[in-house]
Amino acid sequence: MTTQRTLLENGSIIDGLGNPPVKGSVLFDASGILQVGMIDETTLADTTLQRIDATGKSIMPGMIDAHCHITFDEPHSNDELFFHRRPGLAAIIAGYNARKVLQAGVTGFLDADCIFDLGVDLRDAIEANVIEGPRMSTGGYVMLTGVGGTAGRLLPDTGTRGYGVVVGSRDEIVAEVRRQIKYGVDWIKVHVTGIIPRQAEAGEIQVWSLEELRLVVDTAHQLGIPVVGHCRNATSTRDAARAGFDLILHATYMNDESLDALVKHGTPIVPSLTFQANLADHGELVNAAPELRAIFRREIEESAVMLRRAWDAGVPLLCGSESGFALTPYGEWHYRELQLFVEEFGLSPLEAIRCGTSEAARALKMYGKTGAVKTGMQADLLVIDGDPLADIRILGDKRRLAHIFVGGRAVSREPPRPRAAIGGWRVGQFAERALTWDMAHGHD
Ligand SMILES: [Zn+2]
Repeated sequence: MTTQRTLLENGSIIDGLGNPPVKGSVLFDASGILQVGMIDETTLADTTLQRIDATGKSIMPGMIDAHCHITFDEPHSNDELFFHRRPGLAAIIAGYNARKVLQAGVTGFLDADCIFDLGVDLRDAIEANVIEGPRMSTGGYVMLTGVGGTAGRLLPDTGTRGYGVVVGSRDEIVAEVRRQIKYGVDWIKVHVTGIIPRQAEAGEIQVWSLEELRLVVDTAHQLGIPVVGHCRNATSTRDAARAGFDLILHATYMNDESLDALVKHGTPIVPSLTFQANLADHGELVNAAPELRAIFRREIEESAVMLRRAWDAGVPLLCGSESGFALTPYGEWHYRELQLFVEEFGLSPLEAIRCGTSEAARALKMYGKTGAVKTGMQADLLVIDGDPLADIRILGDKRRLAHIFVGGRAVSREPPRPRAAIGGWRVGQFAERALTWDMAHGHD
């Protein structure tokens, strides 16, 4: 039996490892990338070969989104996400949305916390070709202390809600980590920071002790499973790194101590600035509050300096877009994190592409296996009409995505059919503000 091979001919190859582009061709099949550069034509006999002319185009690894919430379905609020979703439909719609992500040139993503613990089932369905989607690495419920996470009082005192599970004691921490691993998660996720009413500091505060974080890590690592943390203040990033976390999301508001801990432990980080940047830059299009826009702009600017220092100190930076919310809908903004790495951290487009491909493969637990155009790697590839090194923003223009391959297989480009509204799924708004007598009578 002959194997189907594909040859992308005569393109500009961006390898995803940060090397300067080279002109050449890429030969691959379902097993992986077979040759890169000058292809030995004599090796092409006796195979079914599909030739694709990539003259004037760029060949690069598929983007990997290290922070994507595939089951949230673009909620407008936590209220909608926690109280207006149903498990069966959420799973089906997640499959629909996975196609949009893939058709945006994202060939892999990490979803560290899914509503209704759907991640394992969705990943298995993708791997079994039941639905078409990017490679997926998944967590289960994010673990929260009784203080809660970022959703405050919307979270219960015990049990599960939305994407989270509350663990109230050391015994519950150990039991929950083991339960999630038993059912097949790739990652354990912890909300290391959250919010409380009347807190002394602005932003988020650390809601786990260092000892509790160590307990999570020790229990998970003993079973060979890595741990990822949501950390949006200085101490949480420091303590998560010290506790042995394998990946940190956000790592915003760092200080020197946090940075030292990251460098010492070599902990990779996923800054995830796209959500904030979308609100800050385009918030007026969706009626976001102007004060919120200023807060998010400040978070980006204040954090950018330390995140850049982290990069200079050798900390791996991964691109993750936090897609899945109304401000970051599926298939629209995944590339934007690469653009922000260029604009906010001053990375070159070549470096940003590395962060969004070979480095981001760490989130898939496939570092050195995908995310690079190199012999022996998985054939997760894009052919781009144009040069993203000249303008990184073209990665967001789906008309320029000439070809997408996952595991050597061409991705269907037929977009999912447009959806109609589903009763009770979205939270409707009566009005943006209260209707007073004065307003109705022209006195406001
Ligand atoms: Zn997130």
